[in-house]
Amino acid sequence: MPRNGQSILASSFKDEPYWWEAFRPQAIEAPSLPASTDVVMVGGGYAGLAAARALADSGIQSVVLEAEEFGSGASTRSGGAISAGLSIGKSFTGKSLDYAPDLVRDVVGWAVEAYRGLFDLVEKENIDCHLEQRGRFLGACAASHYEGLRKRYDKLRAGGATDCYLVSREEQRQEIGSGYYHGGMVLETAGKLHPALFYGGLLAAVQRRNSITLAGHCRATGLARSGDGWRITTTAGEIQARHVVIATNGYTGGVTPKLQRRLVPIASHVIATEELPQGLALKLCPRGRTFSETRRVLNYYRLSPDGKRVIFGGRARFTEIDGEKRARLLHASLVKRFPELAEVKVTHTWQGNVAFTYDALPHAGCFDGLHFVLGCNGSGVSMMPFLGDAMGRSIAGRLHGRMPFGDAPLPMIPLYTGKPWFLPAIGGAFRALDFFDERIR
Ligand SMILES: Cc1cc2nc3c(=O)[nH]c(=O)nc-3n(C[C@H](O)[C@H](O)[C@H](O)COP(=O)(O)OP(=O)(O)OC[C@H]3O[C@@H](n4cnc5c(N)ncnc54)[C@H](O)[C@@H]3O)c2cc1C
Repeated sequence: MPRNGQSILASSFKDEPYWWEAFRPQAIEAPSLPASTDVVMVGGGYAGLAAARALADSGIQSVVLEAEEFGSGASTRSGGAISAGLSIGKSFTGKSLDYAPDLVRDVVGWAVEAYRGLFDLVEKENIDCHLEQRGRFLGACAASHYEGLRKRYDKLRAGGATDCYLVSREEQRQEIGSGYYHGGMVLETAGKLHPALFYGGLLAAVQRRNSITLAGHCRATGLARSGDGWRITTTAGEIQARHVVIATNGYTGGVTPKLQRRLVPIASHVIATEELPQGLALKLCPRGRTFSETRRVLNYYRLSPDGKRVIFGGRARFTEIDGEKRARLLHASLVKRFPELAEVKVTHTWQGNVAFTYDALPHAGCFDGLHFVLGCNGSGVSMMPFLGDAMGRSIAGRLHGRMPFGDAPLPMIPLYTGKPWFLPAIGGAFRALDFFDERIR
């Protein structure tokens, strides 16, 4: 895709995550599946691994089934941004959702626990994943959005938050080397990590626990009640287990049709740039923040851990698209924010699936006798390991208090059978509304 006759793709361009340069998914195949075990996890991302770790620490045996290589799902593909908040109330349909005040209080509390839990986990397992708290700048994409941020800020302060502040358009270059936004808000209790190194560290922690069997390239294809547990059919044979935890998030398929009908998989896309000339990266990102924005079809970005490249993501489309198109769309959005990057080339591009729920909340609980941890709604780097860990402890009888996000049932999505036929239409409508906001309001 030439731009002024030139390609924006570097000669070393790869259609795979930049993060995989440091840690690649692992083909860990069990020589043979045990005939039976206490608990089977279906899905070997952050959630499945964290559940297995918690079970092992209570002396409970488990098997983690992963359909592909370990680390091939969303967990090694993200932007690696984390925060102690959860952006709630935004449905994938565009509808604004109102939650009861008690639920809002719970959700805020769980998001803080998940954020702190991530730092604890990284420290306990000695995971070297460039985890650091450098704050997030949330940019207002229209003047009316800045007014919306002001209301949100007033609510946060009234609720006792002291870790956020508004930034006017005139002051924003202290936060970001761009004039694109109409001001914004800084959330200080936010940070970033290298998602694949974090995954690799969690995987190593699981491998150090002898009571866990990892079975890669082993897809669960059938689940049937058997005795007081489950008989799980897989591409590598059958296994009997007392409990099953479904941790398949944006890759949930037909083996759990009722859960599949409650989750909308949405693709998210990312590019990494080549290394920037010295000094430029610091100018664009003077405080090492992560960036997000108020648009419906938002972009999220940050510098790579070595501070040399921009990692720039967004829903270039809501569905999967080919690598060159993805690179072209995201590069164009990058240049709108940082015009000086027009000549900078793209070295990597990738995509992955997140899972949205009808109430825009994650869920962890039990459905038809199956345990599940599902529905990251786009933010799962701290939340999914937190919920996986809570699920493991809950099965072991060691969870103090309630299961986070366990009270409300995972809601049905009207007129949806598991095939998200409506996503291109929703994506188009959101882009049109964003265009209207940015040009007219
Ligand atoms: C491009 C992108 C950017 C993101 N950016 C951020 C971010 O900046 N911050 C943030 O907080 N979150 C972000 N996320 C979300 C975050 O990555 C996810 O919420 C999190 O990784 C989900 O972890 P998980 O364990 O639930 O699922 P996954 O890591 O997706 O693992 C699910 C696994 O289940 C396996 N599976 C599916 N079916 C079966 C079966 N039948 N048998 C066996 N295995 C099966 C799949 O192969 C997959 O490996 C992003 C996600 C993407 C894709």
